[in-house]
Amino acid sequence: MIKTRFAPSPTGVLHVGGARTALFCWLYSRKTNGKFVLRIEDTDLERSTPESVQAILEAMDWLGLDYDEGPYYQTRCFDRYREVIGQLVEQGHAYFCQCPKQRLEELRKRQMADKQKPRYDGCCRDLGLRPEAGVAMVVRFRNPRQGVVSFTDHVKGEVSVSNQELDDLIIARSDGSPTYNLSVVVDDMDMGITHVLRGDDHVNNTPRQVNILRALDAEVPGYAHVPMILGDDGKRLSKRHGAVGVMEYFEAGYLPEAMLNYLVRLGWSHGDQEIFTRTQMIELFSLDGLNKSASSFNTEKLNWINQQYLMSEPLTNIIGLVKQRLKRLGLAYDETLDLTTVVDLYRQRVSTVNELVDSILYCFQDFTSYDEKAAAKVLKPSALAPLRRLLDRFQALESWDVTEIHAVIEAVTVELEVGMGKVGQPLRVAVTGGSFSPPIDQTVELLGKDRSIARIERAIEYVSVKGGV
Ligand code: GLU
Repeated sequence: MIKTRFAPSPTGVLHVGGARTALFCWLYSRKTNGKFVLRIEDTDLERSTPESVQAILEAMDWLGLDYDEGPYYQTRCFDRYREVIGQLVEQGHAYFCQCPKQRLEELRKRQMADKQKPRYDGCCRDLGLRPEAGVAMVVRFRNPRQGVVSFTDHVKGEVSVSNQELDDLIIARSDGSPTYNLSVVVDDMDMGITHVLRGDDHVNNTPRQVNILRALDAEVPGYAHVPMILGDDGKRLSKRHGAVGVMEYFEAGYLPEAMLNYLVRLGWSHGDQEIFTRTQMIELFSLDGLNKSASSFNTEKLNWINQQYLMSEPLTNIIGLVKQRLKRLGLAYDETLDLTTVVDLYRQRVSTVNELVDSILYCFQDFTSYDEKAAAKVLKPSALAPLRRLLDRFQALESWDVTEIHAVIEAVTVELEVGMGKVGQPLRVAVTGGSFSPPIDQTVELLGKDRSIARIERAIEYVSVKGGV
């Protein structure tokens, strides 16, 4: 059975690159009816924080990337790592090294000066040292000196590295704690991971990990190292390019399905198809479709995809999200208000839920200025007569419902012998601040009597002052 794992180090939030790796691991396991493991690599005690763990779990949850096992925490497995380190030493695959920092530092300087790659020279490799009280010792892996280490990578193809390129890496620090390459190997082995999908910043670790796995007589998993994500300037994606934490996209009003769809296309393709539902992604995903070259983050495309999802998502879901945001903005609004028409209308014109909320804010709080173009075109002296008549009639209305409101607007057009536009548009700009809204009678009903009347009065005032009437 295929088993993948996502193994983030909790040293910050889940960023776009990590989320994409998680998605690929998740997709591959779902596609193959395999298992997906979440493993928190928290052995770096100084940089790992519980807040980061929480942030990662929250982001996985938002994206709907559910795992079959875990979260495992590496800090809870130290005994096991110690056991394996001991085993490697016993079997002669690892050895104690007492080279002081200073010696290593000088060695490094010398090698650099000679234009050589800095590497450990194997000073303690054959000394057969045993732990000694009061002597700081690390444990190093006895990397083979001959031959090549090869592995097949689903993205990069066959990768071969000469063992002479690899030095004897430290697998246990002097306090006995395991280093990254050791703990990863032990966990991948113990958890029966069949496929390691990760960013290609790890590709240099893989030959080392393969050698350790072989020393442990463990099965070597399949690998897929996915190319990195660049910002639109061609540089590695970072904070400089804006949001990189996945939850920042939640905050900004993106839908998880759109985010997933966008992420999957950052490094994987299926013909030139752009929109994939979750089910389609699972159906179509394959390691062969992983791209070989780096992909660039493109906010415009993300916006486009999000807008597709805003349109196709069931309206009730979008309304739910809008209400959530209104609450978070601290806006007091009537829970019973039917937002169907406004939300349905505006969702066609915006890219995010936040923009959607912004465009309907006029329903819940007074706007501070009119849309300039709309005001210039519509709030002119000719608007005064319709607005005044509307005001009188609205004030006299006993029940505030769409039929009555509609009748008022119509009566005013008849009285003034003008078309609908000459009455409807001034009313629209007066009550919404702009020239675009759902049918005006419905909008006015939604706004309520007090708010509508106050806004019409304000528009009359505005025209009077501006027009010198
Ligand atoms: N913990 C490593 C990281 O966050 C990933 C290790 C791996 O996937 O092998 O970069």
